[in-house]
Formats: sequence, structure tokens, C-alpha cells
Amino acid sequence: RVNRGDFLHALEEVHPAFGVSEEELQQVIQNGIIHFDSVVDEILRSGELFVEQVRTSTRTPLVSVLLHGPPGVGKTALGATIAQASEFPFIKLISPDSMVGFSESQKVAAITKVFADSYKSPLSVVVVDNIERLIDWTPMGARFSNAVLQALLVLFGRRPPKGRRLLIIATSSQRPILTDIGFSETFDSELRVPPISTLRALEFVLQEVELFQSADERRQVTRQLKEAGFDGSDGLTPKFQIGIKKLLSIIEMARQEPDDVAQRLIGALMGLGI
Ligand code: ATP
Ligand code: MG
Repeated sequence: RVNRGDFLHALEEVHPAFGVSEEELQQVIQNGIIHFDSVVDEILRSGELFVEQVRTSTRTPLVSVLLHGPPGVGKTALGATIAQASEFPFIKLISPDSMVGFSESQKVAAITKVFADSYKSPLSVVVVDNIERLIDWTPMGARFSNAVLQALLVLFGRRPPKGRRLLIIATSSQRPILTDIGFSETFDSELRVPPISTLRALEFVLQEVELFQSADERRQVTRQLKEAGFDGSDGLTPKFQIGIKKLLSIIEMARQEPDDVAQRLIGALMGLGI
């Protein structure tokens, strides 16, 4: 007879396949995804298709996708969400945040180990977050860690062993430098993650996070922003651009001042010089 203890034990046994990074993965997606624009759904849908391709096609045991876009547009959260939704037995996030203080060779070893572990699972997703920070790229003199770069290039190009399949989801805010340093032919596909650039999308976010008590109050804010010249809804020349990460942090800041949420929000948005 199977009792509750056995059941929990079984769950525990399954768990290690996800590794420690499951926690990290959860952490980067804990705030969820707000569907403020159809492009958000398109990116998630594309991600789903790559997951399906890896799951079903025997011809493509290795698929790699790059999510790129300006800082704070949600690349990490989207990449992690796609990875999580795959429900593959091995899902891991390689993030510069987890390698603070690592030497070059420790980084190479850690990254190589994640890939080596992934080869043991029939289906895996590895999220390689923020390539430019992983390789310690600095604009000054365009310096970076060549050892980490070479390791990534090799691992991104290596087919998993027979019977194993791997999806690599990489992110970067520095698309142009990737080409300069040798990543041009590396990815099977690239998805651009855009910033928020319409008042409609902004209003959607405001509604979703329930910053205001009433719809009226919310619309008043968007009206004021429109008057201030913020509107880019014509889709031609966006007058303002803001990453969802920054917008959410501005919203939380405005929330701290219950008396004048609207003015604080507008002030902060205008203060961005957008
Ligand atoms: P950076 O350039 O600093 O690496 P990023 O582009 O990786 O930033 P994230 O770290 O993913 O951005 O931050 C996006 C934040 O916004 C997360 O907290 C995420 O939960 C939240 N979020 C809400 N809606 C979305 C969305 N549609 N897309 C992405 N992230 C979203
Ligand atoms: Mg990121």
C-alpha cells in the first residue's frame, strides 16, 4: 500500500533533477508576466514552439534561441517562463548573479557542469542569462573573458549525445557586440523583446497591478501623460519607451505615497526624460 510518506518521498526523488536552479528560476519569474501587448504572447508562443520542436523532432536535438532587447524589458523573466513551461525533466538557469566572485576558471567549470548535467537528461532546457555579463564584457576597450566566451561558443555548438535533446535560451542586452565577438551564426533563432512604448500598454500594466482604486483615476493619469506628449500609440514613432522592470519599480515607489500616487507616478515617468 502506498502511503503519504511514500508519495512525498517519490516527489523528493524526482526533485533533484531540477537542481538548485529551480529555486533561482522561480525567483526570476515570481512576479509573473503581464500581457500588456500582443508581442508578449507572440514571444511566449514562439518559445512554446521551440520547446515542441526539441521535444518532437529527432532531427534537431539542439535548438538555441536568443532573447535580446534593451535593459529591463523582461528578457530573463520571459526566458525563465518559457523554460519552466516546458516541464522538461532538466531545467537550469545559468546566471551571472549566481557567479559573483567566481574566477574565470570557476565560471567555465560551473557553466560546463550545467551542460554536462543536461546531457544526462533526455530533454533539457538551459537558460544562459545575460551573456555579456557572464563573459564580463566591458565597453571600455571592449574587454571580456575570452575563456568564458570560448566555453560558451563550444557548448552552444555541441550536439548533445545520442538520444538527448537540449534547448538553449540565451539573453542579452547587447545584441551588436554578440556579432562582434563571434556569436553571429550561433543561434537558430532570435527574438527581440521590445520596451513598452504605448499608453495603451502602460494603462494595461497599471490596471493589472491595481495601483489605483478606480478606473477613472487610472484614465486620468493616462490622459495627463497623453497631454504631456507621451503617446506613441500611432505605432510609428514611439514618444516614450520604458522597460517593464523599471515601470514596475516606479509603480511600487508611487504606491508608497498613498496620498498622491498619480502625481508621483507621472513625475517619475516624466523624470525619465522620455
Ligand atoms: P536586465 O536587462 O536588467 O537583465 P531583463 O530584461 O532581464 O532585465 P527582467 O529581469 O526579466 O528584465 O525583469 C522583468 C520584470 O518584469 C520581472 O520581475 C517580471 O516578472 C516582470 N514582468 C511583468 N510582465 C512582464 C512581461 N510581459 N515580460 C517580462 N517581464 C515581465
Ligand atoms: Mg535579465
